[in-house]
Amino acid sequence: MDTTRCKNCELEKPYMDFLTLETRLSTDDMPVFDVHENCVSCREIIRVNRRKETGKKYRENNKEKIAERKKNYYENNKEKIAERKKKYRETNKEKIAERKKEKVVCECGSEVTKSCLARHRKSKKHLQSV
Ligand SMILES: [Zn+2]
Ligand SMILES: [Zn+2]
Repeated sequence: MDTTRCKNCELEKPYMDFLTLETRLSTDDMPVFDVHENCVSCREIIRVNRRKETGKKYRENNKEKIAERKKNYYENNKEKIAERKKKYRETNKEKIAERKKEKVVCECGSEVTKSCLARHRKSKKHLQSV
């Protein structure tokens, strides 16, 4: 099979990978062989990257608008969000309790449960040893 070297990945790929869509779909006996410089997978990667780049630029240029939208969403959905959080807590009660019981070593060296950590940090024992 005929192969062509892709300008992007520099691999030999089947000629078919370089044909433009119009050429491939053409029903002419002698279609105009229009080919791309890059193979089909590279073209896909380039396309995705370009889209990502556009998304990033959009976010950079619209930071305030996006923040505003987020705020609005929060304002308009306060109850829904609270409801969702509540449900999460209810369905994960055990997991959350379990996590609270996990022990962590505080920077002062004493071992405390996660739920006590905040309180412990204000305790004499902690303050004296830091
Ligand atoms: Zn390629
Ligand atoms: Zn401590």
